[in-house]
Amino acid sequence: MDFKVKCLQCNTEVEDTGKFHTCGCPNGLSFHNGKITAIDLDLVVEVPIYKQETKVHKPSSYLSPEDMTFQEERKRRKVKRLSYDVR
Ligand SMILES: [Zn+2]
Repeated sequence: MDFKVKCLQCNTEVEDTGKFHTCGCPNGLSFHNGKITAIDLDLVVEVPIYKQETKVHKPSSYLSPEDMTFQEERKRRKVKRLSYDVR
């Protein structure tokens, strides 16, 4: 349940650090002890911290071809081993 909140008015992300602080714009977004307060909550979004890394954009299509060739090689190896076993 790690997440921070983002004020869409000033694009400032506020984390619940245990200290009370606001995003700094007139919307006055704060995130303290798990409580989100703001003048206009419609301008506040929750940003899961684990999803942040996906947001930073390592395109999944970049990694998957390598993964696939790796898995294919694994399959071939297994097939080879199997044919060895048969002999
Ligand atoms: Zn703000």
